Amino acid sequence: MDLIIKNGTIVTAKDMYQADIGVKNGKVILIGKDLDHSDATMVDATDQLVLPGAIDANTHLGMPLDNIQSADDYESGTRAAACGGTTTIFDYVIQQPGEKIMDTLRKRKQLCEKEACIDYSFHATLTDVNPEILKDMEEAVQFGINQFKVFMIYSKEGMATDDGTLVKAMIRAKELGARLAVHAENPYIINMHTEEFLAEGKVHPWYHYQSRQEYVETEAVKRAVYWATSFNTPLYIPHLACKEGLDEISRARNEGYDILAETCPHYLYFTNEVYKYDGAQNYVCSPPIKGPESQDALWNGIKRGDVSIVSTDHCPFQSHEKNAGLDDYTKIPNGVMGIENMYPYMLSEANKGRLSFNKVVEVCSSNPAQFFGCSPQKGTIAIGSDADLVVYDPEKTFVVRPENMHSNVDHTIWDGVEFSGYPVKTFSRGKLVYDRETFLGEKGWGQFIKRQPLG
Ligand SMILES: [Zn+2]
Repeated sequence: MDLIIKNGTIVTAKDMYQADIGVKNGKVILIGKDLDHSDATMVDATDQLVLPGAIDANTHLGMPLDNIQSADDYESGTRAAACGGTTTIFDYVIQQPGEKIMDTLRKRKQLCEKEACIDYSFHATLTDVNPEILKDMEEAVQFGINQFKVFMIYSKEGMATDDGTLVKAMIRAKELGARLAVHAENPYIINMHTEEFLAEGKVHPWYHYQSRQEYVETEAVKRAVYWATSFNTPLYIPHLACKEGLDEISRARNEGYDILAETCPHYLYFTNEVYKYDGAQNYVCSPPIKGPESQDALWNGIKRGDVSIVSTDHCPFQSHEKNAGLDDYTKIPNGVMGIENMYPYMLSEANKGRLSFNKVVEVCSSNPAQFFGCSPQKGTIAIGSDADLVVYDPEKTFVVRPENMHSNVDHTIWDGVEFSGYPVKTFSRGKLVYDRETFLGEKGWGQFIKRQPLG
């Protein structure tokens, strides 16, 4: 045996019990009482929780945007992830118009092989769904991808899918054992508001929110759900931020449709108030953060099981890049950070009694593993699973500062937020990659996770 984690309280989506964990060759091989082995490294987890590492199912690392790219690349993004207890990421790679899906995927995989500090896989975002792309989706599924994404927005940028194309992609994904994710916001209403606001000199980041209020997202979610139910295909709504969209998803789920919703920590913690004050540009993301009714609804959706996954949509930009839009909100690169904050935040809420630790493991780890085809390798603590483990100290308090984060970004929207309880160790396939605020991993350690088609 290589490693024994002793006396911790193991938490999975279903159970909470005290036991030792034995690890060999990166896998959990024994769970029991009083494990002992002379050549194993011993880690004492008395009074601490031992959790499966989180899976961040929505990241945008090194994502190109006009002439810049998101501020965390695969190295710094996965380093930060590891330091927040996340041991696997699913990164959305963007097939550029005219590019083959497999070329996009292979290029990004090569980058990850050099840079990633934890395990990774991809979802493929399609920007020009045409007969050739629809055909090529099959090869991507064989490669190990079981989720594609299209945009309902970005009509001006030429990346929006019309409803017919959206339905074609939904049907094709289902045929291949994959799921289609849609970025659900209505571009025509956004454009209408934006033209009006700019003409009136309304340029403050507050108008980013005003141009894409609740109804902008709700209409698109309802339309996507309507098509998915009409054609009986699976659907994934990433980064859900609005109450009425969730109501529609809940209704369809109650009728038995395979529709999954994901929300993000920033929608659960902040409200649209953030767009009124100094620093508002740093919170600009799409969909924007909504009002308190939506926030309450998202929390209730998590408890009810209608929000299945919490992931970050991590897509940070540096201060000077965010500031470039201070005189025109449309010039602010969209995206916020969270890759190092998601698990600590959700676990802190559990520690304070808002929800159970099991529920946090479910939405941050075991559901993403299950729905994205890599369970039980990932997402739980069981014999034969990867030893992606987090030791969590419920007594440790932690205040987020840009200087105690491990990403490349020079600021954080989580600055000053205090967590009750914090991860103190992260293991990636049995290797200690983070120990008490220090990153110990190495780039190139991460492995590609080939995912199974939906069963
Ligand atoms: Zn999106």
